[in-house]
Amino acid sequence: MLKPLGLYIHIPFCVRKCFYCDFNSFPCDGDMQERYIASLLREIDTIKDYAKEYYLDTIFIGGGTPSLLSEEQIQKLCNKIKVSFYIDDDVEWTIECNPGTVTLNKFRKYKELGINRVSMGVQSLDEAELKAIGRIHGLKEFMESYAAAKLAGFENINFDLIFSLPSQSVESFGDTAEKIMLYKPTHISAYSLQLEEGTTLYEMQDSLEFPTEEENREMYEKAKSVFEENGYIQYEISNFAKPGFESKHNLKYWSQDEYLGLGLGASSYFENCRYDNPDTFDEYISFTENKKVLHLESTRLTREEQMSEFMFMGLRKIKGVSDMVFKERFNTSFFEVFGDVINKHINNGLLVREDEIICLSQKGLDLANTVMCDFV
Ligand code: SF4
Repeated sequence: MLKPLGLYIHIPFCVRKCFYCDFNSFPCDGDMQERYIASLLREIDTIKDYAKEYYLDTIFIGGGTPSLLSEEQIQKLCNKIKVSFYIDDDVEWTIECNPGTVTLNKFRKYKELGINRVSMGVQSLDEAELKAIGRIHGLKEFMESYAAAKLAGFENINFDLIFSLPSQSVESFGDTAEKIMLYKPTHISAYSLQLEEGTTLYEMQDSLEFPTEEENREMYEKAKSVFEENGYIQYEISNFAKPGFESKHNLKYWSQDEYLGLGLGASSYFENCRYDNPDTFDEYISFTENKKVLHLESTRLTREEQMSEFMFMGLRKIKGVSDMVFKERFNTSFFEVFGDVINKHINNGLLVREDEIICLSQKGLDLANTVMCDFV
């Protein structure tokens, strides 16, 4: 019987670098795009035989800015995926789009190719805040892109938001959260800004004013209450969805399910191994030209590592982790393996136990990192 598998395809191109971004993404020209697509097609050829006993139930074309690719390029890529893998009739197929890089024709093409979910990098609905983080778009581009997605027939749309931006107040983030509701996305991801070394904001941090930790917490609470009042269910620390619209693809990462990652810098988790692709453009291109097997580097996770990962990734989910599932995978109970840590955090109020399930408490959600670190 075929087993389910997720597929992630990384498109590393962006118009320019946002000030907070440390993802593997960079500006490109037409020639780089063509060479990259050719490499992805080669990588699919190399990898498809490994996936013969699997069917894809999620596909995620992420980046970077995949919507920078031309209609012809995205068509080549999607058609290659379709002829190379078994695909579930009910597949969740997402593409990431940034306002200002996508048109009605592109959305129509995505739809025609079978893509059924759009993830849009909105980040904020305040012009000054968008400028302060170096986004290439303003509100006008966001509204045009959103209208085009709807016109092309997309119903399942995610908005990415960031809070704790330079000079952002709790009130202005609350405004963004409220206004976002008017567009009725099916899914919202809301992450707190992280200052990563090497980014423009990191370099400029002394000359900028950032929200305090308390304000950061208030923003998170504000987001939760606005979204919950409007019928969204928080199903992960930073993710909210209308019932039935939780991201199946992201749930794979938090549930330690198998996925293949293709493209520069992409990682895979496949048959208990972690694989990493080369993370520079030239290395990736020559890696696919040499038809290396599967991936460049692989690490087989020990049983202990798999058990730790099951716990610390799984606890990101609001419904927590199930001992029954743990037993099916590892033939032992997590109360046996992690009993001390679990009891410590139940006693200090950060974890809650309900029968065979443990999950983060409300207080634990705020201190999630402290809890998760203890399982490593
Ligand atoms: S669009 Fe996304 S990937 Fe590209 S630079 Fe901005 S944050 Fe990074």
